[in-house]
Amino acid sequence: MRQAADLEVGGQRVLVRCDLNVPLSGGAITDDGRIRASLPLLQDLLGRRARVVVAAHLGRPRTTTTQGAPDPAFSLAPVAARLAELLGQDVPLAGDVAGPSARALVEGLQDGQLVLLENVRFEAAETSKDDAVRGELADRLAALADLYVDDAFGAVHRKHASVYDVAERLPHAAGPLVAAEVAVLERLTQSPERPYAVVLGGSKVSDKLAVIEALLPTVDTLLVGGGMCFTFLAAQGHDVGSSLLEPDQVDQCRGFLETGKVVLPVDVVAAEAFSADAPHDVVPADAIPAGRMGLDIGPESVRVFAEALQGARTVFWNGPMGVFELAPYAEGTRGVAEAVASLPDALTVVGGGDSAAAVRALGIGEERFGHISTGGGASLEALEGKALPGLEVLS
Ligand code: ADP
Ligand code: MG
Repeated sequence: MRQAADLEVGGQRVLVRCDLNVPLSGGAITDDGRIRASLPLLQDLLGRRARVVVAAHLGRPRTTTTQGAPDPAFSLAPVAARLAELLGQDVPLAGDVAGPSARALVEGLQDGQLVLLENVRFEAAETSKDDAVRGELADRLAALADLYVDDAFGAVHRKHASVYDVAERLPHAAGPLVAAEVAVLERLTQSPERPYAVVLGGSKVSDKLAVIEALLPTVDTLLVGGGMCFTFLAAQGHDVGSSLLEPDQVDQCRGFLETGKVVLPVDVVAAEAFSADAPHDVVPADAIPAGRMGLDIGPESVRVFAEALQGARTVFWNGPMGVFELAPYAEGTRGVAEAVASLPDALTVVGGGDSAAAVRALGIGEERFGHISTGGGASLEALEGKALPGLEVLS
C-alpha cells in the first residue's frame, strides 16, 4: 500500500478523504478528536506545498428521504471553522461537494493552501448502491485533483464514491491514520500475542454478534459489559428488570457462554429510569429488581474484569461499560479503561467512536493506550474478517 509520504505533492492538487465525522450538539462540536487526528497529514501536505482539497462526510443528512434536499444542519461549516483554528490558516468551505462552487475554489488554490468540500453525503450518489451513479460523482471529484489520499479509516468499510470509486480514478495512497490502523489490525488478526482479551460493551448485542462469533475462537477471554451484558445475563436465566434486552439473541448468547471464555459482570448499577437524577443502587447481577435498568457495571465487576485482564498481552476494547455520558454511570467505563491502560506489557487497542470519546471525556489519557482507532465500524468489520473496499482499492 503506497503511503502519502511517498507521493510527490508539491504544486499538485491532492484530494484528501478525511474522517471529520464529529459529534455535534446544537451546531457545536462536542469532541474534536477526529479533526485533531487528521492534522498530521494535512500539515505534512501543506508543508510540502500541495494544494489540498479535503472531502469528508458528517452524519446522515439523508435518512428521512433520499430524493429530497439534504438537511443543512449537517453542513461541514463548524468543522471548517475548527479546522481553520487548529491549522492556523483559512479553510474556505465550498457551497457544494463537486459542483461549480467547489470547482471555483479549487481553481483559486495556491500551493500550501487548503479548501474543504461540503459534506459528501449531501450528494445522494455518494452512498448509492449503483456503480454508475457513484461513478458520476467520483468523476467530478477526481476532476478536482491530481492525486488522492485516503486518511478516513472510519469510512474504509464503505463502498462510497469518495472512498472507493475516486481511488480508482486517480493515483492514490494511504494517509498515516489508515496506514497505522492497518498495521494494528494486522497485529490483532494475524498472530496476536497471548493471552488475548477482548472487552465488549456498548448498547446492542445484535450490532456485535458477528464480531463475537468471529472473535471467540481466537480470543482467550471475552469480557462483556455495557447494554450488551443483559442479554447474556438473561441467557444464564437471570431476570434483568427493564435493562436493555434483545430476546432474539438470548439463544445465541447461551451458545457463546458455552465456550467458557465469556466473563460477565457480577454487579450492576440499577436505576429507576434512564436519567442521571434517577434513584440508583449497586445490585448483584443476578438480582436486578423488577422495573430497574442496569446502566453500568458495578465496582465488584470492575475488580473482576481488571483481574481477568492481568497478564494479557493483547487487549481489544470496544464499547463503553455503561452510560458513561451520565456521571452516575461512568465509573464502570472509567475503571475498565484504567485497568486496560495500566497493563504493563500489552498491545492495547481501543476501537469504536463512543469508546474513544469515553477515553477523552473521562480524561484517561489517550497516550496510555497502544492505539485508539478512529473508526469503530471499520475495525469491527476487519476483526470479523470482512474485506474492506476502501482498503482493497488502495492496495
Ligand atoms: P462504540 O461507538 O464504542 O462502538 P456503541 O456505539 O456500541 O460503542 O455503544 C455506545 C453507547 O452504549 C453509549 O452511548 C452508552 O451510553 C451506551 N450504553 C452503554 N451501556 C449501556 C447500558 N447499560 N444501557 C444502555 N446503554 C448503554
Ligand atoms: Mg457508537
